[in-house]
Amino acid sequence: MEPEIPLVDLKAQYRPLRDDILSRIDSILDGMHLFLGENVQAFESAFAEYCGVKSAVGVGNGTDALQMALRACGVGPGDEVITVANTFFATVEAIALAGARPVFVDVRPDTHTMDPSQVERRITRRTRAIVPVDLYGQPADMVPILGIARAHRLKVIEDACQAHGALYGDRRAGGLADVAAFSFYFSKNLGAYGEAGAVTTDDPEIAERVRQLRNHGSTRRYHHDLVGTNSRIDEIQAAVLLAKLPHLDDWNEQRRRLADRYNRLLAGAGLGLPVEDRWAKHVYHLYVIRSPERDALTSWLGERGIATGIHYPVPCHLQPAAREWGMARGMLPVTERLAGEILSLPMYAELTEAQQSRVVEAILDFQASRVAQPVIGN
Ligand SMILES: *Cc1c(COP(=O)(O)O)cnc(C)c1O
Repeated sequence: MEPEIPLVDLKAQYRPLRDDILSRIDSILDGMHLFLGENVQAFESAFAEYCGVKSAVGVGNGTDALQMALRACGVGPGDEVITVANTFFATVEAIALAGARPVFVDVRPDTHTMDPSQVERRITRRTRAIVPVDLYGQPADMVPILGIARAHRLKVIEDACQAHGALYGDRRAGGLADVAAFSFYFSKNLGAYGEAGAVTTDDPEIAERVRQLRNHGSTRRYHHDLVGTNSRIDEIQAAVLLAKLPHLDDWNEQRRRLADRYNRLLAGAGLGLPVEDRWAKHVYHLYVIRSPERDALTSWLGERGIATGIHYPVPCHLQPAAREWGMARGMLPVTERLAGEILSLPMYAELTEAQQSRVVEAILDFQASRVAQPVIGN
């Protein structure tokens, strides 16, 4: 049975866009220009302008965007790349796929993004780059991270896959570092209806390199300057994204209003609430609270028709796939504690206040039931 209040509701977003999107797809199929055509070009320039950077290169997905951004920065076998472990596994996977070794640092307990004070001590002769993640829609603390990177001649690759439209100071996510990676996976703040991603940068050499990499290392048909891959955004996904991009700011504002309302209604209930840094404009890809009784709260909400998620239940450094990277439980105490407490509540632009109030009431009922519960034994 589908929950009455889902975590995201893509059908609600589609309804008002349906005619526009279908006519765009119809005209692509009429013309049958399916390969790196006018929609891809138009989307790349619109998205670059939106992010405030010189170039956006459309690619197959966010994982490839990260991997190609790393390769375009010269990251390869034998290199180390510093990143965080409370992220979707793709962040770390992309580093490994580029041939490098992920090196983990812990996160700030308030914002859950990379703790800049931990980075310097993990730098070695092999370190080549840093990959901070704009987690849940909030940019990582980029100024100190860039300062460390410049001092040690490291590249910074921003994982902006959850932060379309977020701000750090007056700069947009995607334009905060040497290069950034976006995913347009369907549930992101800007989502396609299939796989898609983009690399954004102000550096023309990085942009050109990614253009080559996404198309078999080729800029001229059947001539291959390097070993790349097949990872291009397709015309239909580009057209869907072009139709959606003009709405992104409104959707993000709506998410921010809902987040404010959650913050207000849940204040004082004994839960950890999201912290927005002074320099950041969070776009709430996810609205994540903390509870020491997370699993009981999850079941309680589930029984009341309210969907929740955990982003993410097992930190990357404790995954079976991470065995070779020399990490063990206890090495990232903040990340590990958060994994047991975090809970994502329903969050999408079309969530109504009535639905949101039901979520809040169910949570407050749960909290009250715990306080009222007599303690058995001593
Ligand atoms: C979604 C996501 C990715 C991967 O994007 P895909 O398009 O699914 O490959 C990478 N990093 C983060 C933080 C993400 O949320």
